Amino acid sequence: MGCPLSTSPWGRLSLWHETAGDDWTPRAALPGDTEVDVAIVGAGFTGLWTAYYLAEADPSLRIAVLEAEVAGYGASGRNGGWCSALFPASLPKLAGLADRDAALAQHRAMRDTVDEVARVAAAEGIDAHVAKGGTVSLARNRAQWRRAQAEVADARDWGRDEDDVRLLGRAEARRILDGSGTLGGTYTPDCAAVHPARLVRGLATAAERRGVRIHERTRATAIEPGRVRTPHGTVRAETVVRATEGYTATLPRHRRLLAPVYSLVIATEPLDAELWERIGLARRETFTDHRHLIVYGQRTADDRLVFGGRGAPYHLGSRTRPQFDRDERVFMHLYAALTDLLPVLAGTRVTHAWGGALGIPRDWCASVGLDRSTGLGWAGGYVGDGVSTTNLAGRTLRDLVLGRDTELTRLPWVGHHSRRWEPEPLRWLGINAALRATTLADAEERLTRRPSLVARAVDRFVG
Ligand SMILES: Cc1cc2nc3c(=O)[nH]c(=O)nc-3n(C[C@H](O)[C@H](O)[C@H](O)COP(=O)(O)OP(=O)(O)OC[C@H]3O[C@@H](n4cnc5c(N)ncnc54)[C@H](O)[C@@H]3O)c2cc1C
Repeated sequence: MGCPLSTSPWGRLSLWHETAGDDWTPRAALPGDTEVDVAIVGAGFTGLWTAYYLAEADPSLRIAVLEAEVAGYGASGRNGGWCSALFPASLPKLAGLADRDAALAQHRAMRDTVDEVARVAAAEGIDAHVAKGGTVSLARNRAQWRRAQAEVADARDWGRDEDDVRLLGRAEARRILDGSGTLGGTYTPDCAAVHPARLVRGLATAAERRGVRIHERTRATAIEPGRVRTPHGTVRAETVVRATEGYTATLPRHRRLLAPVYSLVIATEPLDAELWERIGLARRETFTDHRHLIVYGQRTADDRLVFGGRGAPYHLGSRTRPQFDRDERVFMHLYAALTDLLPVLAGTRVTHAWGGALGIPRDWCASVGLDRSTGLGWAGGYVGDGVSTTNLAGRTLRDLVLGRDTELTRLPWVGHHSRRWEPEPLRWLGINAALRATTLADAEERLTRRPSLVARAVDRFVG
C-alpha cells in the first residue's frame, strides 16, 4: 500500500510489521531506577490498552510500560487480524465459574468490544484498515456441517439470535466465500478484519499522547509486589501489571502459568480483481471452516490473502525462540490447506510467512485480575482470541486499578485462576498429543464423514 519498507529487524518480522507504515526505531530504554503509580510489563495489546484506558480515566497517574523488544513485537503485531467476539472458554464453562447470566454478560461484553476497538482506532486516527465484515465459517464435509448446525442450535438454547450467529445454506455460504466442497456454513457479524501491527503501533502512540511512558528494549527480569526489576534499573510502583501472554513462562516463578503455543501464518501476493470475483469476501469477511485444527484467514486491505493456523509443535520447557516462528513443514501445510479451500489460488505466490507464540492456560480460560493484597495485576491466556479480548482486559484492569465496581469487574473471567500446567515432560507430551490429535480428528472426519471420536477425547483435555 505504498508503505516504506523498514530496514529494522523488527520491521521484517511479518507482512504486518513490514506494512505498518513505521520505521520501528526503538524508543529509549528505562534510564535507571524510577517510581511510578502503575508499571506494566509488556507492550502488546494487553499492556497498551491498560495503559491507554488508565491514562484516559486519570491523567494524573504516572504509568510506565516496559517492553523487552519493541511495542507490537509479540503476538499483537503478528496475528491473523480477527478482531472478534470469540472468547476461549465456552458459555457453559463460563456459567460454571458463575452463572448463566454472567456467561451471557461476558458474551455481550465481547460483542461490544469489537465495536469499541473500531471506535478507539477511529477516534485516535489509527489507520488499522478496520473492516467489520463478520466471519464466515464454511462446512466442507458432513461432519463439519453437523457441527455447524449443532453450534447454531446451541446458540439458540442460550438465547443468541440470528443477529448473533446464523446458519448459511450452500448457495448463501458460497456467495460469501466460494470454498471447495462447501455444504453450508455459519455466519456471525461480530468480527472486524484489522491490520494488527498498525493497530498496536497506533495504540502505543495514542497512549504516549496521554502521558504514558513506554520503555523499549527493557526486559523485566522479575515481577514482584511493588517493583519490577530490569537490567537498566528497578521500577517501583504500587500496581504492577503482567501483560506478557505467550512469553510469561520466561519470568521467574511463572513457568507453568501459560503454555506458549505457536501459530503460523502465510500471506499471498496481492490478488487481482478477477480472482476476487471468483473467491468472494467482498466485505472483507474473515473466514475459516468447521475443522478441528484452528485455521483463520482474512482478505487484507491491499487484496492479499492472509491465512494461518496451529500445527507447529509445542517446545519442551515452554521455550520461546525467534527460530520457532518459522516451520517450513507447517507453512507447506498452510499453503496446501489454502489451495485446497480455494483451488483458484493454485500457483499463487506466497510472499510472507511468519509465526508467533500465544498463551494457553491449563483450563483454556483467559483471565484478568488484580490482587489487592500484593498490587499485582494480570491478563492473558487468550488462546488465540486476544485481539479484542485484550481490549476488554484493558478496560477491566482500568476499573480494578481505580477501585471501581463496574459491570466489567463483575464478569466471570475476572479473578479467575487457572490451575498450573503439569511439570515437564508431561506438559510437552500432553500438549503435543492434543495438537496432533486435532489434525488426526480432521482426517478421520474426511474419511468417515462422521464426527470424530478422537476429537471427543481431546475435548476432555482442552476443556
Ligand atoms: C500467529 C498468531 C495469530 C493470531 N491470530 C489471532 C486472531 O486472528 N485473532 C485474535 O483474536 N487473536 C489472535 N492471536 C492471539 C493474539 O494475537 C494475542 O492473544 C494477543 O495479541 C495477546 O496480546 P498481549 O499483549 O497479551 O501479548 P503480546 O502481544 O504477545 O505482548 C506481550 C509483550 O510482552 C513482551 N515481553 C515478554 N516478556 C517480557 C519481559 N520479561 N519484559 C518486558 N517485556 C516482555 C513481549 O516482547 C511482547 O511484546 C494470534 C496469535 C498469533 C501468535
